[in-house]
Amino acid sequence: LPLLVGVTGGIGSGKSTVCAMLVGMGCELFEADRVAKELQLQDPEVIAGIKALFGSEVYHCDDLGVLSIDRKLIASVVFSDSRKLEALNRLIHPKVGEAFQREILRCAKEGKRILCKEAAILFESGMYHELDRIIVVAANDGLRLERAVERGMGTREEIKRRMKAQWPQEQLIKRAHYVIFNDGTLDELRAQVEQVYQSLESLVASL
Ligand code: ATP
Repeated sequence: LPLLVGVTGGIGSGKSTVCAMLVGMGCELFEADRVAKELQLQDPEVIAGIKALFGSEVYHCDDLGVLSIDRKLIASVVFSDSRKLEALNRLIHPKVGEAFQREILRCAKEGKRILCKEAAILFESGMYHELDRIIVVAANDGLRLERAVERGMGTREEIKRRMKAQWPQEQLIKRAHYVIFNDGTLDELRAQVEQVYQSLESLVASL
């Protein structure tokens, strides 16, 4: 089986950038948040469950038959209704877990030795238990805010609200095997990722 490496961090910390670098170095990548979003548009059970929870009006089908989902509406509902948030997670998380298991098997079959799992909520979801190593990407709040705004992740206020709703970085760092501080340039980031990658490689070699 491949070595399973979780990559997490708060909004705008640089998770995706770190994962792209790890892929460039030879790691396989499973993007949990992307898979979760895909399931909401493609999995009939998930779609039915979401309609039951939030009303069928959260889905829209355009003239070409392309389905879209009103994530803002869902976000605003679950923000003030934690039971709906839990129900939504119960609907989606097991399916993301299944997709991850399939990815593990694919890696095993193809002889891929390191599989990274990128997820915004690795600890909150309890998913970290099944991972061998955890990388936390951290950066100071101001930088994260600027980067997230620049990338069009929402308004300043929206991003600040999401930052507050996430675990504080110290809590993530406490549970990490590796911490990557993304407060500098992309070259400085790459140097740290390279070090972590080398460490993962030697770990794999020692197994
Ligand atoms: P989210 O949780 O919002 O998905 P993320 O943690 O995956 O965010 P990225 O998407 O990797 O973060 O980075 C956010 C933005 O900041 C991107 O546009 C990325 O290109 C940019 N960025 C990341 N690290 C740096 C850096 N060291 N220097 C400059 N820009 C950076």
